[in-house]
Amino acid sequence: MEFKADMHCHTYCSDGELSPMELLLKAKADGLQGLSITDHDTVEAYTEELQEAAKTLGIILCPGVEFSCQLGLESVHILGYAFDLNSIDLNNLCKKHKERRNQRNSRILKKLRSYQIVIELEELESRFPHGVIGRPHIALMMIEKGHVITIKEAFQRYLGEGRCCFDPGPVFTIDETLDVIHKAGGKAFLAHPQLIKRRKILKEVLKKDLDGIECYYGLFPRSESVRWIAITEEKQWLVSGGSDFHGHIKPYNRLGSSFVDRDTFQKILS
Ligand code: AMP
Ligand code: ZN
Ligand code: FE
Ligand code: FE
Repeated sequence: MEFKADMHCHTYCSDGELSPMELLLKAKADGLQGLSITDHDTVEAYTEELQEAAKTLGIILCPGVEFSCQLGLESVHILGYAFDLNSIDLNNLCKKHKERRNQRNSRILKKLRSYQIVIELEELESRFPHGVIGRPHIALMMIEKGHVITIKEAFQRYLGEGRCCFDPGPVFTIDETLDVIHKAGGKAFLAHPQLIKRRKILKEVLKKDLDGIECYYGLFPRSESVRWIAITEEKQWLVSGGSDFHGHIKPYNRLGSSFVDRDTFQKILS
């Protein structure tokens, strides 16, 4: 069987649908041999129990995380791989992100209230008790309360960047994020470069001390990766790829829809 490792997916520790164990079992059922769970700003998925189960199932787990960063007006996601899960620096950054999100969620809910959309913070936290809460969770509650029909509508009308109820909250820079990933012995990759809207920002990001680029992403055809692979060759960086599987928040991103082969996986892990 062809070796496939999906290097980008989410569990309910951030805005994914499945528990870490359910995701691992799905990866096995879907024929993956390698996996990196990359929740937003948290590594809570990586329990001893999960790591033991991965060994039993014969799936190689690569420690992963997707950090939210800001550069100018653009939000940029940085994937960290193969770091020490016990790193104090990295766990501290996750903790700071949790505080950032708490502040930010309160501010977003306050703004929504002025549009007669009333969601209490306690309500949000008890509806999503497992981990890091972000805009997709707020969007789901807006659907449940009948204010919007889809997540897309919630982002387009209220929560998306620059929309009336958007609030970035306190932000972290790419440089400090890369520094933490490197201190933890890990490698830092630019996530989904296709989604960066401003050319100037992309140029700036590519000057950073990265180790690689997520060249294969989600539903983008493999031909789309050529441009990004050329940049990694020029810079002697590594290549990564993953689906960004979330479950119901992004139903179109199938687990394993983008992946890396054995050789690429080993380079990221080593
Ligand atoms: P947050 O972490 O709170 O900044 O939310 C980021 C998440 O929201 C990402 O995982 C995206 O998948 C999701 N997201 C961002 N923009 C949109 C959009 N326009 N429609 C649906 N989901 C989005
Ligand atoms: Zn997400
Ligand atoms: Fe992302
Ligand atoms: Fe993601």
